[in-house]
Amino acid sequence: LNREKQGMNAAEREFENTIRPGQIKEFAGQPQLIENLTIFIRAAKIRGEALDHVLFHGPPGLGKTTLSRIVANELGVNIKETSGPVIEKPGDLAGLLTSLEPNDVLFIDEIHRLSTVVEEYLYAAMEDYRLDILIDSGPNARSIQLSLNPFTLIGATTRSGLLTAPLLSRFAIKSRLEYYSAETLTKIVLRAAKILGTTISNAAAKEIAKRSRATPRIANGLLRRVRDFAQVLNDGEIDLGITQHALKALNVDEYGLDDMDNRILVAIIDKFKGGPVGITTIATAVGEEAGTLEEVYEPFLIQEGFMQRTPRGREVTHKAYEHLGKKPNRGGNS
Ligand code: ADP
Repeated sequence: LNREKQGMNAAEREFENTIRPGQIKEFAGQPQLIENLTIFIRAAKIRGEALDHVLFHGPPGLGKTTLSRIVANELGVNIKETSGPVIEKPGDLAGLLTSLEPNDVLFIDEIHRLSTVVEEYLYAAMEDYRLDILIDSGPNARSIQLSLNPFTLIGATTRSGLLTAPLLSRFAIKSRLEYYSAETLTKIVLRAAKILGTTISNAAAKEIAKRSRATPRIANGLLRRVRDFAQVLNDGEIDLGITQHALKALNVDEYGLDDMDNRILVAIIDKFKGGPVGITTIATAVGEEAGTLEEVYEPFLIQEGFMQRTPRGREVTHKAYEHLGKKPNRGGNS
């Protein structure tokens, strides 16, 4: 569970699992990634071998966990799921790895949060399906070697920049998940509504999609909230009117920006005259790590045209001023 998922309650996680696509053909978007994965999965199956180790990286809620389960499902193998901080000792890792059947998948979410010791044990496991475990200490210390069944490690991370070079190099397949277009998100919302047995108009689904930070998890979460409004105020039917009413009541940003997105833009405008300003300076101003800004927030703001990178730092655009109802205090920003 990553930090974001920990913030979800049991009902929300259950909801998320209910609408999670289980097969590759139900997974919307990410066409290049899906095409490549399909080939790699088929090839591994033809050879009867474990699929090469896979790293999924990209911002939260874009489908890394979903895809990992789909990969195991398509390979016809079991998946064991854990996360970086949960594997505290080499023994925990040994327990997981020795429980795998041939060609199974071990999924490690938040793999950037593995401890250094555990990570070092993982190298030999990934490379040679082998574990050298040191038992006892002092004069009784000895190492025992365990051979493992061939397996596929699927790592997921929002912060690939924090992965060490030796770990990165052991993933033969590295895929970055991209933000979703409003069109693809609309399809995702329509599909989720169908699974929930809720009637929703295309216009309503599109409206939710537009305001979901280009992220399926957020789109599904908004659908869940809007459904509540529709249930109480509109006989359960989600149309555009009730959707707009609900999104307004929920204070959802017109472009789907979240609190941190808005704080970043406001900080650049109010404290640094709209930029250009360095990422570390912005990070200090908003109280977030520079790496997280770079890997989680900035790509969305740039893609949506609120911010741009220049050789001298980050700059907000006119769209940001307009959106925040602020006046540019100097010319030159596009
Ligand atoms: P991540 O692991 O990247 O944080 P998840 O895989 O947990 O994200 O996805 C979050 C939610 O979004 C899940 O409920 C999942 O059903 C939905 N989702 C993500 N990607 C897609 C997609 N491409 N198509 C349909 N639903 C998706």
